[in-house]
Amino acid sequence: MKKLDIFVGGKWQQGRGNEMHSRFPGDQHIVATLNSANLEDVEDAVLAADKAWRAPSWRSQPSHQRATILLKVSALIEERIDELTHLQTLDNGKPWAEARGLVMSAAATARYFAAVCEVSGGELPPRRQSDMMTLSTYQPVGVIAAITPWNSPIASDMQKIAPAIAAGNAVILKPAEATPLISLKLAELFEQAGLPAGLLSVLPGKGSIVGDALVRHPLVRKISFTGGTNTGRQLAHIAADKLITTSLELGGKSPTIVLEDADIELAAHGVCYGIFSSMGQACIAGSRLFVAKAIYKPFMERLTALTQQLIIGDPRQERVHIGPLITPAHRESVIRYVTQAINEGGTIRLGGEIPSDPSLQEGNYYQPTIIEGLTNQASVCQEEIFGPVLVVIPFDDEAELIDEANDSIYGLAAGIWTKDYTRAFKLADALDVGTVWINTYKVFSISTPFGGFKESGLGREKGIESLKAYMQQKSIFLALNPQPNRWCE
Ligand code: NAD
Repeated sequence: MKKLDIFVGGKWQQGRGNEMHSRFPGDQHIVATLNSANLEDVEDAVLAADKAWRAPSWRSQPSHQRATILLKVSALIEERIDELTHLQTLDNGKPWAEARGLVMSAAATARYFAAVCEVSGGELPPRRQSDMMTLSTYQPVGVIAAITPWNSPIASDMQKIAPAIAAGNAVILKPAEATPLISLKLAELFEQAGLPAGLLSVLPGKGSIVGDALVRHPLVRKISFTGGTNTGRQLAHIAADKLITTSLELGGKSPTIVLEDADIELAAHGVCYGIFSSMGQACIAGSRLFVAKAIYKPFMERLTALTQQLIIGDPRQERVHIGPLITPAHRESVIRYVTQAINEGGTIRLGGEIPSDPSLQEGNYYQPTIIEGLTNQASVCQEEIFGPVLVVIPFDDEAELIDEANDSIYGLAAGIWTKDYTRAFKLADALDVGTVWINTYKVFSISTPFGGFKESGLGREKGIESLKAYMQQKSIFLALNPQPNRWCE
């Protein structure tokens, strides 16, 4: 099989690092082989990026002209939606319908930031002196290190590349080891859309080698990271030493709350989707479920019945809900958590095993699992499993519920199911999380800011203001009636 090239400073070339593979998690076959980037590739990409963003033809380009590149990329993604969906599913095993949704969201993100280019500008602060005017302008930061995880690469890559390019920067993307394909394909589309060479590089490879060298490089002036909290913390230390900014989208252990007046049908469908879509490999997975004691039995019966209907299978088939987990090692980690839950006194209501279907034995499949009988103190309620495991806790006191829902190092998202919107708003206000869904779950909008409280992150992605996260503000004082300052006379 021919090895894939990587994209370094506008050139497609063999990586100079170790051989690596992209494997289809459904049966572990090798989809593509490539050599990862090495430290020389990092150096070449950063030098090319620094030259490219400083080039007068790019720096002086009005932002609405940069927008045309993003619009072309958006159109190219839409033209090639089936190919990109297939690639995303091969790379990380995400079921077809979800992968397709992500591809469409990447096209929408590129289009959104093209539109932001048209409307975003500087400010004219109020004048404090009649003969002085001040302008507040925004300039690019320079070379951006964008580091992304494997669970939704096309969406997380585009959430970083589009605003960074719209703001006039150069981007070096380091995708996760397991999922290099979609990121390299995006580079191809940006090149085809006319992005000048050097403004985007894609450097697959290990985080501890390629990612580390990239963020430490003196010419890298911002780190935009999505991934685990521990990695995010390490990167924040590096950024602090360099005195550069970071934006961090990190882990979660999101509470979902079903109040006693909830519409059981609505809530059961929402909870099922909130935890088991993407096999629970989502930062915002609703993995801690609090159910009012008054409706616990009927609600759990409905949720269990719906979960039993989920089709486990090859994610390339359109009707499949549950595909494989990303790697055998990750499935092992999920199994360890389930064992730990049992050891801590939990009982398995549903799932808890590798599916027995002979056709699934080559892949990293795991049954959607529901665990009861634990308190919020259990390890599986405090730690992010990142798999199809839901832990359910009954409650009857709202004040205790709020304390428990907030008793987590994480603060990414929460769901509330109730017909009483006044109560829902009060609860939403009391939860220490960055996003609250009321009578819905896991819906996104590129125009609505997203990010975490506490150890779930720093900064926000999406929304008009997120462009400014990739810019630095400059104030210019303009004397309208210049007079000598006779201070020294
Ligand atoms: P991870 O932190 O292990 O890796 C993420 C990326 O960081 C990868 O590209 C990896 O190679 C790189 N990396 C690892 N160590 C590095 C280092 N020392 N220096 C530089 N780069 C390094 O996370 P993962 O396992 O790929 O992804 C799962 C995690 O991502 C979960 O915790 C999940 O909640 C989180 N996530 C968060 C969001 C969000 O928006 N908040 C979205 C998706 C995933």
